[in-house]
Amino acid sequence: MKKKIKILIELTLDRLPENLKHRVSLFFNGLKHVLGKGYRRFGFFSFWIRVCDFIVVRTNGDKFIEFELTNICNAQCVFCPYPDMLRTDKKFMNMNDEILAKSISKINEFKSALISFTPTTGDTLLHPEWDKYISSVLEQKGIAKATIFTNAIKLDEENADKFIQLLKKDEKGKMSQLYFSFGGLDVNTYKSLYKVDRFDMVKENINHFLSLLKRERMSVGIHIHVKLLKNQVFDPILAKTLLNKNNYPFVYFSHSSFYFSNDGYKRNAIIDYYPDEQPVKEYACSYLNKTRFAADGGVWADGCVISEMPGDSSLKLGNVDDERSVIEKERTRIIDDWEKRQVIPKPCQGCTVYRCRKGESR
Ligand code: SF4
Repeated sequence: MKKKIKILIELTLDRLPENLKHRVSLFFNGLKHVLGKGYRRFGFFSFWIRVCDFIVVRTNGDKFIEFELTNICNAQCVFCPYPDMLRTDKKFMNMNDEILAKSISKINEFKSALISFTPTTGDTLLHPEWDKYISSVLEQKGIAKATIFTNAIKLDEENADKFIQLLKKDEKGKMSQLYFSFGGLDVNTYKSLYKVDRFDMVKENINHFLSLLKRERMSVGIHIHVKLLKNQVFDPILAKTLLNKNNYPFVYFSHSSFYFSNDGYKRNAIIDYYPDEQPVKEYACSYLNKTRFAADGGVWADGCVISEMPGDSSLKLGNVDDERSVIEKERTRIIDDWEKRQVIPKPCQGCTVYRCRKGESR
């Protein structure tokens, strides 16, 4: 019964128009923040905080901004083009102060529902000043909601403390959800998927961080996404035993047995991929509405892991020195080329993340 209600709410939220989704998201993020203050004294608020988390993550919409503090990574995942990109002339770097300042002035023009500190490739915690950079973005009045996706390899004790301080400083509760990715539920799966031997370290990092959140009576939603190999079955009890030993109440597990890909992306035999259900894509993808601010100052449409192919920049809209009108003109050109001339950008060809934008107003 509970599952049916959840599915019904999910379907309803998914059908909301983009601007209404935006408002619902902000309302429940704000409500969660108020409940979070009450939770410090009254534990029974936790149920309603979980309800808010459920709604907030399902109303992120399509127009959010990916903010890439670094494109350097500490893993070499088999489902990511990063290992191939290392062999191209792409510049791997951390965002610097100048690009940060220019990116901030640009994102203030976007009025986006959400800023996601998620690089296309890379891990945000590798930036030496990740906490200061994120704080300076969160301080912007125009930013209402933010999140981060990390593999938590660098979520050591020092970074965990920095994170707690960052969340305390975030007085309006803008960063209400954090996402961690984890490779399987055993040492061998982790190593097969991430190509680094960090299973035990990340397990301890996550448990330590959750224990700090619990100690501080914080109510940040922690979403742990477990990646699996072909034919593996997710075990929620084992996941909880391994990664949430202290029973922090706002942990949500999800898993993937299938991975996204596109036509230009080398496939790996140890994992399963989503099929391309729409071989003929008449309309452009709605994710072209997303914008990524890259570590080197580039501005791109979309920011998913396969939207920047090695040696390809067909989704690049410009850079932080360009006027917003120039960036939007390029976005329109890409969409028009697709819909009027069937010129589909390379990363979008055979892309299994594709979501049809038919019917949406630009
Ligand atoms: S089709 Fe794929 S690569 Fe292209 S914008 Fe959509 S999700 Fe990104």
